[in-house]
Amino acid sequence: MSLPIVAIIGRPNVGKSTFVNRLAGNQQAIVHDQPGITRDRTYRPAFWRDRDFQVVDTGGLVFNDDSEFLPEIREQANLALAEAKAAIFVVDGQQGPTASDEEIAQWLRQQSVPVILAVNKCESPDQGAIQAAEFWHLGLGEPYPMSAIHGSGTGDLLDALLEYLPPTQEELEEDEIKVAIVGRPNVGKSSLLNALTGEQRAIVSPISGTTRDAIDMVVERNGQKYRLIDTAGIRRKKNVDYGAEFFGINRAFKAIRRADVVLFVLDVLDGVTEQDLKLAGRIIEDGRAVVLVINKWDAVEKDSYTIYEHREQLMARLYFMDWAEMIFVSAQTGLRVQKILDCVDIAAQEHRRRVTTAVINEVLEEAVSWHSPPTTRQGKQGKIYYGTQVSTQPPAIALFVNDPNRFNDNYRRYIEKQFRKQLGFFGSPIRLFWRGKK
Ligand code: GDP
Ligand code: GDP
Repeated sequence: MSLPIVAIIGRPNVGKSTFVNRLAGNQQAIVHDQPGITRDRTYRPAFWRDRDFQVVDTGGLVFNDDSEFLPEIREQANLALAEAKAAIFVVDGQQGPTASDEEIAQWLRQQSVPVILAVNKCESPDQGAIQAAEFWHLGLGEPYPMSAIHGSGTGDLLDALLEYLPPTQEELEEDEIKVAIVGRPNVGKSSLLNALTGEQRAIVSPISGTTRDAIDMVVERNGQKYRLIDTAGIRRKKNVDYGAEFFGINRAFKAIRRADVVLFVLDVLDGVTEQDLKLAGRIIEDGRAVVLVINKWDAVEKDSYTIYEHREQLMARLYFMDWAEMIFVSAQTGLRVQKILDCVDIAAQEHRRRVTTAVINEVLEEAVSWHSPPTTRQGKQGKIYYGTQVSTQPPAIALFVNDPNRFNDNYRRYIEKQFRKQLGFFGSPIRLFWRGKK
């Protein structure tokens, strides 16, 4: 049950030891007696959130006067990387990229270990992001500005690191999808909850760490578990008179934050109200996957066109969620209620999907050749160098361009549309970051 190893790599004096000390605090070094572990390095236990791991400082990759990456040092670093699950490459943001950084980056790109790029000494809030941006061209993905001394920025970096560590046994076992049922009062949330849990084997499980009365229910279907978040919040108002606001929007906001997929419930008889739009805004802001559940379909008089008319009207108001599946259900009769979970499966999958840099750049090339980037009034044309997916849940794509200001909203929307068309990501929002060279 040895802990995953994270190798800390970088030139001398960039702040590796300072960073390791911050990660490990004053926890004692680990003494290994299993074979295969390189003995002359110290492994320090560290943790972030609920994950334990160990960090090993490679001691600083030293270069000769021509800033050449010496073979014997390369050998040492190879050994350290061989046993690591991930590497953190530390560079000095105040100094900017150096020739040695380039050399190490080139070598790291040839390794199979995922690398997180930590741009240290970025304690200045205004300068930090700019200093970090200079390191994009190392080709190691997103540079994370941080300060090992002050601790700023290290949280985001460690969150990114956790994505690369192998899942713990516990995580493997409970590969459940977290689902929040949200909507205005009286749209039919608790009826829907009953319909969803009624036929399934439902387990009520209070979870620790959240408010005491936030009770989740887990339902299982075809071996997939769904954790329905804060079912108490959905049901409570039935029995207890707390006033509408108490179990209202703030509670919904909290549920949205914890969810993978939001079942956004609307009442077909009311259409999309201002309150609905407020919830929609928060769902988008939090980057959650969405299934639009249009309830009370039984109460609508219909002919064969009705569903299309309704879809069109609702989507016109929810145009910013046009990537989400819209499903017309009746919690009361059970119509299509089971299909909701099919939509949840797809949305959850897409929300977690990773697309290779090669595919992203194919889409970009195609898009740009149909429709070149705009030219500003000063005659300066925008240029997109390349794009890469920098995270999932929601999928986020960074685009490296000569100057973000040269890309107007129209063009940005066009590119976003092309990604949507070519890559799908059905049910999930996509985020685009336009990054300049500086
Ligand atoms: P290592 O050789 O890579 O292990 O680097 P050290 O951890 O020994 O740090 C080298 C120098 O950089 C020391 O003088 C540190 O105080 C300084 N340093 C480390 N982290 C930071 C930081 O976040 N901000 C600033 N301004 N200096 C730092
Ligand atoms: P909540 O406040 O969102 O939890 O909504 P409820 O589940 O308490 O439902 C509010 C009202 O709408 C109740 O009177 C339900 O009987 C009714 N309702 C819920 N679902 C449906 C449905 O599918 N069709 C119809 N006709 N009424 C429904």
